[in-house]
Amino acid sequence: MKKTFFLALVLLLNQNIMLAQSKSGKKAKSSKIDSSKWRAEHYIIDRDSAYADPRIGLKKLMGGNKRFIEGKSIKPRQDASTIKKLEYGQAPFATIVGCSDSRVPNEVIFDQGLGDLFIIRTAGQVSAAASYGSMEFATLKLKTKLIVVLGHTECGAVAAAVQRPENVPGHIVTLINEIKPAVAKCSHLPGDPINNAVRQNVIDQVNNLRDLEPILHKKYVDGEILIVGAVYDIHTGKVEFLEETLQNLPQPKK
Ligand SMILES: [Zn+2]
Repeated sequence: MKKTFFLALVLLLNQNIMLAQSKSGKKAKSSKIDSSKWRAEHYIIDRDSAYADPRIGLKKLMGGNKRFIEGKSIKPRQDASTIKKLEYGQAPFATIVGCSDSRVPNEVIFDQGLGDLFIIRTAGQVSAAASYGSMEFATLKLKTKLIVVLGHTECGAVAAAVQRPENVPGHIVTLINEIKPAVAKCSHLPGDPINNAVRQNVIDQVNNLRDLEPILHKKYVDGEILIVGAVYDIHTGKVEFLEETLQNLPQPKK
């Protein structure tokens, strides 16, 4: 009897020690990840704040891209628990209107996860009715307040608009025709004609969305949503938010 009691006591103690060890192990790991030093070093911005305020959303994207180019990606919200959490709804904090180019995977270059980005991609991020409808859906239904037009250097669609090949097959000519005005606007500029046109194309597309009736225009001038432009550098992985699209932004009404 005494022996059995002693054995049970030893087992119980052993179990408690193991439990304490695993708890302290978990605590050590999470306190490292949650520490303000770690958050600052990884440019962490709170997701709910980014969803509520597009200016904070912008900072969140900038921080994610910094992590990516510095080799510090944390690949957030890409686990089974996030899948479960998003089972019946989504609240992406940004809409990205980007190029289809396989070298510009949006969640990777901004180091974001499931449910973070509402993405519309076509070659040269040329938009037409279906794309506009998708942006309006995100704005009205999902309450996403930030729209980023994301071009990239060495864009094939823009290059085609600069080079103007003859007898373009199929529907590809539609893309080229949409980008041609941007090419014409910067034909006098020094430097690389394709990358100049990439920037101008993004600026034109941003202005086009800011003027787009009947939904985006009003939301934009009322300061309810933000529409800005950026260019991803294929060589470095860096996203440059274009100064031309960050100036004189309408302020939200108090
Ligand atoms: Zn492209």
